[in-house]
Amino acid sequence: MTDKLHIVGGGMAGSEAAWQAANMGVSVVIHEMRPKVETFAHKTGKLGEMVCSNSFRSDDHEQNAVGLLHWEMKEAGGLVISTAYRHRLPAGGALAVDREPFSEEITAQLNAHPNIEVSYEEISELPQDGQWIMATGPLTSDGLGQAIARATGTESLAFFDAIAPIVYADTIDMSKAWMQSRYDKGETEEEQRAYLNCPMDKETYEAFIDALLAADKTEFHEGETAGYFDGCLPIEVMAERGRETLRHGPMKPVGLTNPHEPDVKPWAVVQLRRDNALGTLFNIVGFQTKMKYGAQKEVLRMIPGLENASFARLGGIHRNTFLNSPTLLDERMRLRTQPNIRFAGQITGVEGYVESAAMGLLAGRMAAAEILGQELPSVPQDSAHGALVHHITGGAEAKTFQPMNVNFGLFRPLEGVKGGRRGRRDRYKAYTDRAKEAWQGWLGTQTIATAAE
Ligand SMILES: Cc1cc2nc3c(=O)[nH]c(=O)nc-3n(C[C@H](O)[C@H](O)[C@H](O)COP(=O)(O)OP(=O)(O)OC[C@H]3O[C@@H](n4cnc5c(N)ncnc54)[C@H](O)[C@@H]3O)c2cc1C
Repeated sequence: MTDKLHIVGGGMAGSEAAWQAANMGVSVVIHEMRPKVETFAHKTGKLGEMVCSNSFRSDDHEQNAVGLLHWEMKEAGGLVISTAYRHRLPAGGALAVDREPFSEEITAQLNAHPNIEVSYEEISELPQDGQWIMATGPLTSDGLGQAIARATGTESLAFFDAIAPIVYADTIDMSKAWMQSRYDKGETEEEQRAYLNCPMDKETYEAFIDALLAADKTEFHEGETAGYFDGCLPIEVMAERGRETLRHGPMKPVGLTNPHEPDVKPWAVVQLRRDNALGTLFNIVGFQTKMKYGAQKEVLRMIPGLENASFARLGGIHRNTFLNSPTLLDERMRLRTQPNIRFAGQITGVEGYVESAAMGLLAGRMAAAEILGQELPSVPQDSAHGALVHHITGGAEAKTFQPMNVNFGLFRPLEGVKGGRRGRRDRYKAYTDRAKEAWQGWLGTQTIATAAE
C-alpha cells in the first residue's frame, strides 16, 4: 500500500496536480475549503474556478512562451488545458475560456476519477507527516497563511493585486464602439472580430487621465506593505507613472480602424473582451483598478460607448500570497525545512492561470514519483515548465523576488541565432523547437495514463 497524496486547494494548480498524480496510479485526496469557507474572489464551490479574466493568453506555441506552456501541458495530458480547449471562446490569437462549463467539467472529471477523493474542508496547519502539496493560491486562508509564515520565518506572505471590471454587453453603445481584433488577427471572421473597441480623441483621453488621477481610491490598512506585480498594475497607478503610459499600454490605438470614422485615427482605444459564451458580458482588458466603486462607475462612463454602461462586476483590490521560493523551496518544489510538503501554483511565485496549472502539473508528477519510489529526471530547463520552475526555485534573485509570468527571458540563451526584428522570430521559433524536444524527451521517461480527450 503506497501513501496517499494530500493536495490542499482545488484551484488551477491543485486540480492539475491531482489529475497527474492520480493518472500515475497514486490515491489522491483534494482538500478544498470552498464552498464552506469562501474567498472574496471565488464565486462558486467548483474546482478550477477562474477568478477574474477568462483568458489563458496567447495560444501561439511557436512564438510565445505561454502558448508553448499550453502545448507542453497538452502533450502531458493536462486536465486544465484540455478542458480549456473544449470550452474555447473566440479571442483572436488568445485562448479565452467559457468559465462556468470549464470549472463544471474540471469538477466532474476529478470527482469521477477512481483515484481521487474530494474533501471539502479548510486545512489550517502544515501537516508534519505524509505527502502534501499546498496549492492554496493567492487567497490562501488566513490560518494556513499564518502557519506557513511561522514555518518559513516570514513576517508576511501577502502583497496586493487589482482586478478589472465587467460590463453588460447590451449597455454598450455600438454606434460608437466596434468589433475588431488588433491587426484583424485570427483565422476566422469571428476571431478577427473578437474585441470590442471604444475610441478616444485626445481631449477625452486627457480628461479621462485627470479623472483617474483625482478619483477616490481604496487605501491600504496601516502597516500593510503594498507592492504590485508589474503585469497587473491598476490603471490609476499606470496613470500616476505618466500621462502617456496608458496610451502605450492597455489603451494603445494601434492595429485598429474605427468603421464609424475610418479617416480619424483614435488617440487611444479601450478594448473589451467577451467574458462568456453567450456574449452578454465583456471585461475591460487591462483595466484592473482600486478606485472606489462610486468613482469607478463615474470614470469608466467617460469612455465613449460606455456612457450608459452597467457593470456585472466592478474592479477591486485583492491580496496575493506567495513564498520567497528561491530560498524556501528545493528544485523538486519541496519545502527545504520540511520536505514532505510541496508547494504548487501561484503561491510559489508564478503568476497566472496557466503558469499555476503548469506548476501543479510538475508538483503532481514529482510527488507521485516520490510516493511510488520512481526515479524522475530533473525537468529540462530548456522546456517552458523547466524554465519557470528553475526560475522560482533558484534562478530568480531571492531579495527582489516577485511573481513571474513565463517568458523567453527565462530561457537559456541560444547560440548563433541573429538579433533584430526578423531575428527575434527566428530566435523564438528556435526556443520553442528546443523546448518541445526537451519536454518530449522528459515525458518519455515516464509512464502515465493519458488525459480524457
Ligand atoms: C482577484 C484575483 C484576480 C486574478 N486575476 C487573474 C487573471 O485575470 N488572470 C490570471 O491568469 N490570473 C489571475 N489571478 C491569479 C489567479 O488566482 C491564478 O492565476 C490562479 O487561479 C492560481 O491558481 P492556484 O491554483 O495557485 O490558486 P487558486 O486557483 O486560487 O486555487 C487555490 C484554491 O485553494 C483553496 N484554499 C485556499 N486556502 C485553503 C485552505 N487553507 N484549505 C483548503 N483550501 C484552501 C481556495 O479556495 C482555492 O480553491 C487572479 C487572482 C486573484 C486573487
